[in-house]
Amino acid sequence: MNVTGKQTLVMKDYPSGNWRERGGVTPTLVIIHYTAMTCEAALARLCGTGDKGGQGGRVSSHYVIDEDGTTYRLVDESRCAFHAGEACWRGQRDINERSIGIELVHEGHRHDGGIDPYAEAQMGALESLCLEVMARAGMRASDVWGHSDIAPHRKQDPGETLPWQRLARKGIGIWADADERHVGGASEAQARDALRAIGYGVDVYPFADVVVAFQRHFRPSRVDGVVDASSLALMRAIADAL
Ligand SMILES: [Zn+2]
Repeated sequence: MNVTGKQTLVMKDYPSGNWRERGGVTPTLVIIHYTAMTCEAALARLCGTGDKGGQGGRVSSHYVIDEDGTTYRLVDESRCAFHAGEACWRGQRDINERSIGIELVHEGHRHDGGIDPYAEAQMGALESLCLEVMARAGMRASDVWGHSDIAPHRKQDPGETLPWQRLARKGIGIWADADERHVGGASEAQARDALRAIGYGVDVYPFADVVVAFQRHFRPSRVDGVVDASSLALMRAIADAL
């Protein structure tokens, strides 16, 4: 920590050849992931050719943050990395072109569905890196999202233990509290409208998957895909906070 309370980044270059030009599109999103593998395995995979282990195409991200906070720069921010896959946010589908990807080294969800907390040093590095990236790109707090937010039908990362509320206090991502007493019956139509306003792909992906993604991010204590009064109140509060 330095005097401003911001953790100094330990940055190492670890170039990946898995990128293409952005094609004139300016990045307007930061997307946060977990690796579900060790740092060593993740760096190999994100720099590999994608023809090993039946994993399919080439993948990469701009940054990888190890559990001890060590941060690896794989792809220059001016270039497009391959981290989002098939996704949708704010009605746009070319999310790789429009985003900067950050991978957090973490084992991911366990077989029982639980997920361990993130390491403190890693969160300090994430805060510092996000603030730097956002400043360079002119992004707002509401431009930082998780992989499951943009690809709710197939992704669970970064998972319920990413401390979004803490990040939001630093200006990274948004958070809101809501009073469910102000919501009468919660209808799917009302939830769809609120989720669409936030940016979720409710017209593209199964509705329950989108609700689960929202809950993972904003109400991790109960992730069941059910639009209850508390979920709807939160959806509206987040939409208002944008
Ligand atoms: Zn991911």
